[in-house]
Amino acid sequence: MERETREQWELGVCFRHPGKGRVPTIHVRTIRPAAGGLLGLRACRDCAKAIRKADRSSPARAGRSRRSVA
Ligand SMILES: [Zn+2]
Repeated sequence: MERETREQWELGVCFRHPGKGRVPTIHVRTIRPAAGGLLGLRACRDCAKAIRKADRSSPARAGRSRRSVA
C-alpha cells in the first residue's frame, strides 16, 4: 500500500510528458492561465513525485496545510 491513495489516479496526459499519451495521472496543482479560468494539471507518477518533493521544500507553500513527514 502506498501513501498516495487519498487522491485519485485517472488515465490522462501528463503535463510534462504529453508525448507519452494517456498514462495513469494524478492532479498535482491548479493554475490560472492568462486566458482566465482554472486549469488543473495532471502528472504521471514520476512527475507527481518530483513535484511533491519540490513543493515540500518550497517555503512559499509552508503553513498552507499540515503535512505528515514521517
Ligand atoms: Zn510525467
